[in-house]
Amino acid sequence: MHDGAAPSRGDPHRQAGPGPRERSEGTGQVVIAGAGVAGLTAALALARQGHRVQLLDRDAAPRPDAVDGAAAWKRRGVAQFHQPHSLLARLYAELSAALPDVVAELTAQGARPVTLPDGLASLWCRRSALELVLRAAVEAEPTVDLRHAAVRAVEAGGGAVTGVRLDDGAVLPAGLVVDATGRRGRLSRPWSGDTVDVPADEAYVSRRYRLLPGAGFGTVNRGVIPVAEGDGYALLVFPHDAGTYAPLGLHPLADAVSTSNPHFGRGLALAAARPA
Ligand SMILES: Cc1cc2nc3c(=O)[nH]c(=O)nc-3n(C[C@H](O)[C@H](O)[C@H](O)COP(=O)(O)OP(=O)(O)OC[C@H]3O[C@@H](n4cnc5c(N)ncnc54)[C@H](O)[C@@H]3O)c2cc1C
Repeated sequence: MHDGAAPSRGDPHRQAGPGPRERSEGTGQVVIAGAGVAGLTAALALARQGHRVQLLDRDAAPRPDAVDGAAAWKRRGVAQFHQPHSLLARLYAELSAALPDVVAELTAQGARPVTLPDGLASLWCRRSALELVLRAAVEAEPTVDLRHAAVRAVEAGGGAVTGVRLDDGAVLPAGLVVDATGRRGRLSRPWSGDTVDVPADEAYVSRRYRLLPGAGFGTVNRGVIPVAEGDGYALLVFPHDAGTYAPLGLHPLADAVSTSNPHFGRGLALAAARPA
């Protein structure tokens, strides 16, 4: 999809990752539907174990060349792409263990590792920057073919997966299909049935800013982010990479934040009490 400024195979940050000698021999073609964080990390893991991977995403926009341009990346397939994300310690631990070259590249690009009061660690980084660096790493893998294509269905026969059918009707054969199509994806439904989909019941509105030189993010008092709370609202500041940050005014109201037993008939009163 893009052959721009991906880290070269000689890039020092790549040396921490598994090298060719450590790769096990893979078998068969793997198709991954969806090139979000799940699809990209799966593609890296499978390719580095020796598999040939076709990674397909319905979003056509190529990644920007550099992290500086991440804010302009149009990712229509992921509605929350440019909304503030905080990266939990578990994500940082997984990336550090399995994809240290990605963590090294992120920090080289301005993401900041932070140590939490309980000793765990995380990373201040925009989601767009994370995805851009992951995608550049994928593009540098010789056995991953990243393509613009929408997957319509998984093909199966004789009790096994045989490939995927694309929106244009073409069929790509595969011995393994990874469904990484995100929350709205429906590819696995014929086999998995309904999936867990907890509604967020929140509306996100955010803007991004960049710190002035020498300025800091202030006191971090909730996990990896500073939070100021008032009566019925909260202001969350998501520190990101290279001095960027995104404040998020969050105002969950009434049943969106807690429901009351209808037996007591107090839901409407509570709904009206907060805004007043
Ligand atoms: C408002 C909001 C805030 C959030 N904040 C946080 C946070 O602070 N921290 C956190 O860890 N998580 C947060 N999340 C959750 C996080 O964004 C998701 O868990 C994450 O995006 C899931 O990644 P994914 O790769 O599974 O799916 P996605 O990111 O949704 O990627 C799916 C990909 O599949 C592609 N695709 C879909 N269908 C097809 C198809 N048929 N064929 C080909 N390609 C297809 C899409 O284009 C997309 O690129 C938040 C979510 C929301 C909605």
